[in-house]
Amino acid sequence: KEITDINELVNEFLKLSYHGLRAKDKSFNADFRLDLQPNLPKIAVMPQEISRVILNLINNAFYAVMEKAKLGADGYHPLVTVSTRKNGDNIEIAVKDNGNGIPEHLKAKIFQPFFTTKPTGQGTGLGLSLSYDIVKAHGGNIMVSSQEGLGTEFTIELPQDS
Ligand code: ADP
Ligand code: MG
Repeated sequence: KEITDINELVNEFLKLSYHGLRAKDKSFNADFRLDLQPNLPKIAVMPQEISRVILNLINNAFYAVMEKAKLGADGYHPLVTVSTRKNGDNIEIAVKDNGNGIPEHLKAKIFQPFFTTKPTGQGTGLGLSLSYDIVKAHGGNIMVSSQEGLGTEFTIELPQDS
């Protein structure tokens, strides 16, 4: 583990994901917002592992908003918001999108290995199961709240003293 500035990781990976997707797909067009708590306490984590979690959640969020954008609804503006905050003894990272959301009957399955709703070649279904394992190995939690048609928010809690 290394003492890590979570705000720095989030900032870096949001931009990396955004520019990577833009480079791959000229039609990619989404807004992102960063809402980082100033002076967030640094915490001891495995930075490469936590980076993979953040990157996967952000990529999933951009994918979800782009899928919704393809439906061509009037006045729809794809938006992904990543925020950090200290909450009691935890550091929280939230990744929120205004995509299509997760249908109720699939919510129990998304953390299972190999579960994906993406076409072959676009998803392995391993991102969330790996993210779950990584967050648990840090003594933390990963939670999802989603409304079909409106969007999804994943929240990661990491204990300050894990
Ligand atoms: P993959 O991205 O390869 O499909 P994940 O484990 O990252 O695998 O996600 C599993 C599934 O969970 C996705 O295929 C999708 O159905 C659902 N999912 C994850 N994130 C979101 C999101 N932000 N909005 C809607 N559905 C999501
Ligand atoms: Mg994924």
